[in-house]
Amino acid sequence: MDFFNKLGEKAGEAYESVKNSDVTKKAVNYASIPSLSIQIGQQEAEIKRQYEIIGAAVFAAEGNDENHDCAEQFEAIKVAQKKIEELRAKIEEKKNAGGDQTKEAPTTKICPDCGKELGEESLFCSKCGHKFNDIVVVDAQDVTEE
Ligand SMILES: [Zn+2]
Repeated sequence: MDFFNKLGEKAGEAYESVKNSDVTKKAVNYASIPSLSIQIGQQEAEIKRQYEIIGAAVFAAEGNDENHDCAEQFEAIKVAQKKIEELRAKIEEKKNAGGDQTKEAPTTKICPDCGKELGEESLFCSKCGHKFNDIVVVDAQDVTEE
């Protein structure tokens, strides 16, 4: 499982500046950006729902001295807003770490002898015939930047 360990280390470096528990790191590594966006949408829908409850309570209290206590809704909105912030931060981290590695970035390795870019499954270099013992893993973004 060297391949996955190296991917993990690589991702870990990018997240070092951010306080992350192991659980958060796993979520960052394995949740894709589209699924994070969906979760943000769900939280935004939840906030709207709470606003409606508050609005209805305020309207119901119109014209009388009844106390419309919306503390529960305020709390739910704050929780949802915090989750959205966290989800957005995760998306940023993934972007900074080279995009959605779990889905999009194809993993390749570079021949140490001739520099040819090869598929991660390659056992031999197709250009110079180098046999791979150590697996050198890079992601596609590193390759294009060189
Ligand atoms: Zn080669």
